[in-house]
Amino acid sequence: MVDPKHAVSKAATCDIEGCDAESSRSISGKKVEKAGFEITVDPSKNAHLCKEHYKQFKKKTKTDREYERLGR
Ligand SMILES: [Zn+2]
Repeated sequence: MVDPKHAVSKAATCDIEGCDAESSRSISGKKVEKAGFEITVDPSKNAHLCKEHYKQFKKKTKTDREYERLGR
């Protein structure tokens, strides 16, 4: 039998390596890895990010896009 408490707490935790914060968003694992984060889940699935890591993720992806624009 699956322990429901365990399942819930696992789903609600940030999937970034070494982070135990409460998850706030779920993002494609591939995108998260591309942004330079190490995740503890299969990248072909969605990774859960806490608020802080989501902020960093958004900043990184935004920066990448700006670099692309500047390079042209
Ligand atoms: Zn986190």
